[in-house]
Amino acid sequence: VKIIYNDQIMDKNKVQIDIEDRGYQFGDGVYEVIRIYDGQLFTAEEHLTRFFSSAEKIKIVVPFPKEQLLRLIKQLINENKVNNGSIYMQITRGASPRNHVFPSAETKPVLTAYTKVVERPESALENGVEAIVADDIRWLRCDIKSLNLLPNLLAKQQATEKGCYESILHRDGTVTEGSSSNAYIIKDGKVKTHPATNLILNGITRQVIARLCDENQIPFYEEVFTVDELLAADEVFISSTTSEVMPVIRVDGKLFSDGKPGQITRKLQSLFLEEIKKMEK
Ligand code: PMP
Repeated sequence: VKIIYNDQIMDKNKVQIDIEDRGYQFGDGVYEVIRIYDGQLFTAEEHLTRFFSSAEKIKIVVPFPKEQLLRLIKQLINENKVNNGSIYMQITRGASPRNHVFPSAETKPVLTAYTKVVERPESALENGVEAIVADDIRWLRCDIKSLNLLPNLLAKQQATEKGCYESILHRDGTVTEGSSSNAYIIKDGKVKTHPATNLILNGITRQVIARLCDENQIPFYEEVFTVDELLAADEVFISSTTSEVMPVIRVDGKLFSDGKPGQITRKLQSLFLEEIKKMEK
């Protein structure tokens, strides 16, 4: 199986990562995940733009252009013969004697990427999932897709231990997003999600959903909402690259629309599926 190491495609077992790689020691890097449907990348341009932007926000310069990375990624998908799956990529500030201060300019960033086979979570998409509410204990730059995911992992683990799929996070009662997803409520026909500020990751799936709402006259508001509003919503859903438009049928024990995915959520799911199909043509 092949992977990308900097600007090359290599055998996975030929790649070595230094124990003083700053990604390994400090989480000093950023990452991205792009979905592959039927051998094709979904919203690749948006993901690559966010990758370069996350890197720039922490002052890592990706050492080659977006177009070259896209070519490499497509080549990797072909060589690994991935049909349905995803590609994970990350870039770190490179390997250098451990020191909090950034290393000198000669230290080259380390970029790695690999593919994975993933099927669509069909039964969860059909039946919906359960979530809990948890404290958002993250830093104030959640707009950066940083390798530092400890608070997200703790929140996800908390959900898993309660038999749930996701933790929906809040800061002082204001819902921000999920531990690895964006969060939405629907009340009286209106879709609401946290504005794209420093407090959330502006999901690519979120951006697709915003556009689909706009094109289909579904009222969409980027407005903050509280945990109380979440629990009083008509419908709740989350979104991400791998979860797509995922209905949430229960939060902290509170059931929504009789425990079945709501009507507008269903509509958004079918619009999203059309987007995937369009791309595959
Ligand atoms: N927020 C967080 C914290 C995430 O980890 C993710 C998953 N990448 C998302 C939102 C959703 O982003 P996207 O739709 O681009 O996958």
